[in-house]
Amino acid sequence: MASTPADSSEPWYARSIVELTSALTTDPERGLTAAVATARLARDGPNVVTRTDARSLLALFLDQFRSAMVLMLVAAGIAGFATGDTLEGIAILVVIALNASIGFATEWRAARALSALRELAEPMARVHRDGEEMRIAAQSLVVGDLIVLNAGDGVPADARIVSAMQLAVAEAALTGESLSVPKSVNVLPAEVIALGDRRNMVFHGTVVTSGRGSAIVTSIGDATEIGRIGTLIDTVPDRATPLEGKLTQLNRVLMIAVLALCGLIVVAGVLRGVALRHMIEVGVSLAIAAVPEGLLAVTTMTLAIGMQRMARRHALVRRLPAVEALGATTVICSDKTGTLTRNEMTVRSMQLGGRRIDVTGTGYVLAGGLVERGVPLLPDAIRADPSLTLILRIGALCNDAVLKRSESETIVLGDPTDAALTVLAEKCDLTRESLHREFPRLREIPFDSDSKRMITVHRGPQGALVLFAKGAPAVMLSASASVHDDGIVSPLSDSARKVWLQHNDAMAKDALRVLGLAYKNLATDIDESALTPAALSSLAQGLTFVGLIGMIDPLRDGVVDVMATCRTAGIRVIMITGDQLVTATEIARQLHIDVRADGSRRRTVHARELTALDAGGWEAIVRETAVFARVSPEDKLQIVQALQRNGDVVAMTGDGVNDAPALKAADIGIAMGLRGTDVAKDAADVVSTDDNFVTIVGAVEQGRVLVNNIVRFIHYLFSCNFGELLVVFIPMMLGWPLPLGVLEILWLNMLTDVLPAMALALEASEPDVMRRPPRSPSAPLLSRNLTALIGAQGLMLAVCTLIAFRVGGFWYGFTGEGLLHAETVAFMTLAMAQLVHAFNVRSRTETAFSAQLFTNGWLWGAVVVCALLQILTVTVPALRRVLESTALTRQDCLLITACTLAPLVLVELAKTAFRVGARVSQASAGGLKES
Ligand code: ATP
Repeated sequence: MASTPADSSEPWYARSIVELTSALTTDPERGLTAAVATARLARDGPNVVTRTDARSLLALFLDQFRSAMVLMLVAAGIAGFATGDTLEGIAILVVIALNASIGFATEWRAARALSALRELAEPMARVHRDGEEMRIAAQSLVVGDLIVLNAGDGVPADARIVSAMQLAVAEAALTGESLSVPKSVNVLPAEVIALGDRRNMVFHGTVVTSGRGSAIVTSIGDATEIGRIGTLIDTVPDRATPLEGKLTQLNRVLMIAVLALCGLIVVAGVLRGVALRHMIEVGVSLAIAAVPEGLLAVTTMTLAIGMQRMARRHALVRRLPAVEALGATTVICSDKTGTLTRNEMTVRSMQLGGRRIDVTGTGYVLAGGLVERGVPLLPDAIRADPSLTLILRIGALCNDAVLKRSESETIVLGDPTDAALTVLAEKCDLTRESLHREFPRLREIPFDSDSKRMITVHRGPQGALVLFAKGAPAVMLSASASVHDDGIVSPLSDSARKVWLQHNDAMAKDALRVLGLAYKNLATDIDESALTPAALSSLAQGLTFVGLIGMIDPLRDGVVDVMATCRTAGIRVIMITGDQLVTATEIARQLHIDVRADGSRRRTVHARELTALDAGGWEAIVRETAVFARVSPEDKLQIVQALQRNGDVVAMTGDGVNDAPALKAADIGIAMGLRGTDVAKDAADVVSTDDNFVTIVGAVEQGRVLVNNIVRFIHYLFSCNFGELLVVFIPMMLGWPLPLGVLEILWLNMLTDVLPAMALALEASEPDVMRRPPRSPSAPLLSRNLTALIGAQGLMLAVCTLIAFRVGGFWYGFTGEGLLHAETVAFMTLAMAQLVHAFNVRSRTETAFSAQLFTNGWLWGAVVVCALLQILTVTVPALRRVLESTALTRQDCLLITACTLAPLVLVELAKTAFRVGARVSQASAGGLKES
């Protein structure tokens, strides 16, 4: 188990960094070597906190015997032994054991699927090893590792801080303190200090809310503070989903109805002179057959398997209820950069005074260069050009991206916007390393979506301090007082400002993402220690504007097609972006999300229009808008809430720390797995592991398929079970002998309740699932129409079975061996008809004989296996003895086949009538419209 190799009792917070690094034999700048890390991992084990909540397999198995029904069946089995009916007693006990095993297997599968998903959501950590920064699985962290902490990261282990820049951490998970705690490197006194006051330590399970820093891991796994409490915050809480709630309720109603009906059957049987014990057995077995005990387990399993399917398609569902909500989504609010676009920025052009310079090449490869009025600019010319060198320098230095190039690939650590600027400088022979050597960085304010700018302070070659800034053009222009042009600085007049804004608009209209760059020479006598963040912010005024840089970010593959899918599926897409309105509008145009089906335009709105809105104003604006530009994270929250007040089911994407409230408020919060912060991922219901809009729509489709599948297997189970009830109830009321024995009823229950029902729950996507409007999440699981359909189909199965029974009775008589024969015919007919009925249930309107007939291999497998098992009941003498069935003649087989296929024919006829009716009403509606 992970432990801290401390040889001194002095707490970590009371030791200096030198003492700490020598105790843990590590380096505060280069971290551990890979070899030491591997050895420590082997010695201490992985950095995982033991989960204490996993249910034991035995408890899961014993749970299967908890239901009152099973206990009654146990009693019936015991009664069988007591009265000397040993064979029946054994058979009932075997049925109970089988039932329990199936229930157990289903629940176990669901639990395993859920825990597999938990493992997929495995957190990552940034560490320095051998002096190189890298991302590794948080599990592989060892004591002594140097971890990097950025705003939005989850803290992956307990660690002592060695550098901190405005580092603040939310420790509510550990201490209950809701405010973020500022952190520093200062050594604390060697006395007992409460967790919340250990300002130079960070703890596993907490999250960095702002700033950045680095820390050395002091404990991992169960040795961490949260490990010691043993309450790791569960990333996938197993709470009941609304669907499960609805199912439980449905189960309850069904249970009461079934018990009442079974009671009636028992009373009617006794009144007709059947032995009470036999009637009780019939009643209990009918109740067991009719109440689908496995409903909840199969539902959970369906959802869990669906979640695995989604995970394979890059959508990690963290909470079960999200699956249902996904299917009901009516609006998707999506970020632009990285979700709709690829987030692979390439600088395309620059504006320097009146000069427009184009940049060639794509992606992060170094091929390409600068071109001015069709003439390539060579490195020497660039070096001699003061405007160009300045803008390239600002872009490369006011920048946090690191590009790691190898022969086969280029890995970008950091923001792609910054990476594009680094590549631009490299294309002009300016490397990040040489620039940093010339202008070492002293201070910085990282980019954030609220301020929309980044600031750094550097010491220049002559020792002077200089401030570099880059950000949204409007922000930078309003912070500038002068302008640099070809080495000359002049005041920035209002008219010049306007011209710059026109240049910006022209670039944005080409769908370019535009950045303004500026600098300021600071006073030489400025005291470095006085450069606090607040001081830096006020220093970043009166800047000298240098120029604009525009970069393209191509649309993701497939995203245009997927927008069309959304339209047919009744899902509205709203683009919410921090980028400028002009750029966003152009991208919305390319995606066709700015037009309604009737050709009218949807609005594009700048955040400044949102400032004075009241609740009604918000509700109105979200109804008609396709693009919200320059929004802040708070605006996002307002948009979600207004949409929800309008009755929409909202899926919202987000990645930043400040997106968490909107992600939580949305019906489905979707965090971006690649560029998203841990805070956003923690707040989200779904994590998109490829940050792709296409994935989100795929997940919506899967959500729809899953809920449809659940409804489908309920349809199947209920119609079969109702049929079984009627097969006993109708003869009882008509005074006929009973067509099914106790064990036959239980056998049928196992045959249909398990394999075919599960296979129906595994249906893949239906071709028209995204051509229908979303279902309302408040709609009952079983609509009135479906309930009527279940009733009618149950009756149909019963009638076909009873016809077979009567004909059998007519052939062989209703007494002794003849009755046994007729019963066997009924038993076979009902079993086979139920298996064939599974194909009826696949679609309520489309014929079973469509192109989809062979798309569900599971169903075919289930039906074939069950049919073979059923045939064994009349061919294997031992089974015949237990189930009290007889061998069948050719004539019986023909009768059974006819009565088995009759429901299929009847349902096909009904579906054809429905389709013709729908077409006629569509045509007449069309005719009316035309006239
Ligand atoms: P979305 O919200 O859809 O992801 P976005 O990425 O364009 O869109 P932000 O990241 O908030 O939104 O960026 C807003 C603006 O800030 C951009 O249009 C750009 O001008 C500027 N900007 C973006 N990234 C940086 C950066 N790393 N440094 C400086 N300015 C930036």
